[in-house]
Amino acid sequence: MFQGVNASDGIGIGVAQVAVEPDLSYTPKAHGDPDAEAERYNQALNKFVERTRAQAKRMAETVGEEEAQIMVGHINMAQDPFMIDEIQSRIGQGMAAEQATDEVCDMFYNMFAGMDDPLMRERAADVQDIRTGLMANLLGKEVIDLSVLPPNSIVVVAELTPSMTADIDKDNVVGIVTETGGRTSHSAIIARALEIPAVLSVPNCTTIARTGDTCVVDGSAGTVYVNPTDDELKEFREKAAQLAEEKKALEAYRGKETVTGDGDKVLLVANIGNPDDANGALEHDAEGVGLFRSEFLFMDAKELPSEEDQFAAYQKVALRMKGKPVIIRTLDVGGDKEIPYMKLKKEENPFMGYRAVRYCLDNPEQYKVQLRALLRASAFGDIKIMVPLVTCIEEIRDVKKLVEECKEELKAEGVKFNPDIEVGTMVETPAASLIADDLAEECDFFSIGTNDLIGYTMCADRGNDAIAYLYQVYQPAVLRSIKRIITEGNKKGIMVGMCGEAAADPLFIPLLVSFGLGEFSVSAPSVLRTRKIISQWTKAEADALAEKVMKLKTAGEVRECLEANAK
Ligand code: PEP
Ligand code: MG
Repeated sequence: MFQGVNASDGIGIGVAQVAVEPDLSYTPKAHGDPDAEAERYNQALNKFVERTRAQAKRMAETVGEEEAQIMVGHINMAQDPFMIDEIQSRIGQGMAAEQATDEVCDMFYNMFAGMDDPLMRERAADVQDIRTGLMANLLGKEVIDLSVLPPNSIVVVAELTPSMTADIDKDNVVGIVTETGGRTSHSAIIARALEIPAVLSVPNCTTIARTGDTCVVDGSAGTVYVNPTDDELKEFREKAAQLAEEKKALEAYRGKETVTGDGDKVLLVANIGNPDDANGALEHDAEGVGLFRSEFLFMDAKELPSEEDQFAAYQKVALRMKGKPVIIRTLDVGGDKEIPYMKLKKEENPFMGYRAVRYCLDNPEQYKVQLRALLRASAFGDIKIMVPLVTCIEEIRDVKKLVEECKEELKAEGVKFNPDIEVGTMVETPAASLIADDLAEECDFFSIGTNDLIGYTMCADRGNDAIAYLYQVYQPAVLRSIKRIITEGNKKGIMVGMCGEAAADPLFIPLLVSFGLGEFSVSAPSVLRTRKIISQWTKAEADALAEKVMKLKTAGEVRECLEANAK
């Protein structure tokens, strides 16, 4: 049994697919048989074309025709007579197929990368994919494509990037295991949204498991079993069946209002990463969207998405949610959220550096593109704007000034928008918490981002397992901060929500009921369970528990007390 970080609940039983970045290095050497070498290249090309064609077919069926065309473009480029001639002529002169392919791909890459037309520049990334495919075939290495996997696959990778996670074929993947990442990393967040059991940070998992091994992923316990015994397999099959039963029982909460044990109504909404996730939010009976992480739109693109592209995405969510509230967070770039084409300078301490609202306010023309798109989409639903990483009043004031400028522009252009659009703060820094009373006067709402608030309060990186004992919502310093934010927001009469992962923590929910949280924003699959737990606590019961907990001195004691009182 191997222990890692429990990142996405559920039991996955399946067959390991170990995806290791293939080592494509080679030693340049001449060869004596150009004909045999040319044939070797032809075979590598045919294999590449065959595989890419299969991927395109699958993509057309599962993702869409547009994405499939990207794969077809790879085939066309690899079969381009000019590219083939360049490679074959080098082989004819005695060069090995690996070097010839590498050199010609380099030539094509530089040609595309240097072009003015952004569409042509994008082709440079396609050349890289072709190079990887051809070289892997020539060197006899396997490239695992996460979008095309056999049924019941357990994906085992060193690191799962957000774009890799987005590619994952969710119908066939029953579990994810990685060597890096924590519970609040974006891979974990996406795994939860996809409802795939995941265990992260299992040291050396890519060498422990081999493709074809039977594996069990227990996403709740954070454990992985490679080639389990028959008894273990039986135990996990039973556990999986029991989980399925519990899930079925939660259906009783579908279509119900979210109320505390006293019948007091709160809002229960979902966190999403892209417009299509709105379907999942509705399927799980969310009452709106409490956090749309707009940076995923930027991460999935190859260059800054235009106002039209952004408008289309925000409008899509607004229309799908049919008048239900939708909070869209403006670009939260930097720190753990890298967007390569934005080319942010490397910093000594990126988590405390030039990021999120700081970057946006320093690039107002770029920020206004997003604000205009949000305002335009507000004509189609109840869109609210949320500003990440606010630490001082000036920031929220400056954002509001830009929003007003955009409103004036749109009015002059005769474009419709909601003139009363709400602008709120994502409260996720100790500074924002300490000035919550003043900040509340400048905002229409608060949403507490516990993922970062814990990290910044405890000076503990959310992805660093060595200091996981500090990175806990149960730390008294974090509890006091959360209580303060809710109390100050409520005093000023603004809605206070929470969109960090703690909002869905069954142990933590009674404290939030006691503090007076008005909105819980959780991953879509957690909606019904959260509704159930909220309904189990009256205000008086929650207050009695909170009173005890707030006197405790350590995170361990807090956790113990919450566990002992859990319903
Ligand atoms: C947070 O910080 O709590 C949050 C919800 O945002 P993210 O996880 O995207 O930083
Ligand atoms: Mg955050």
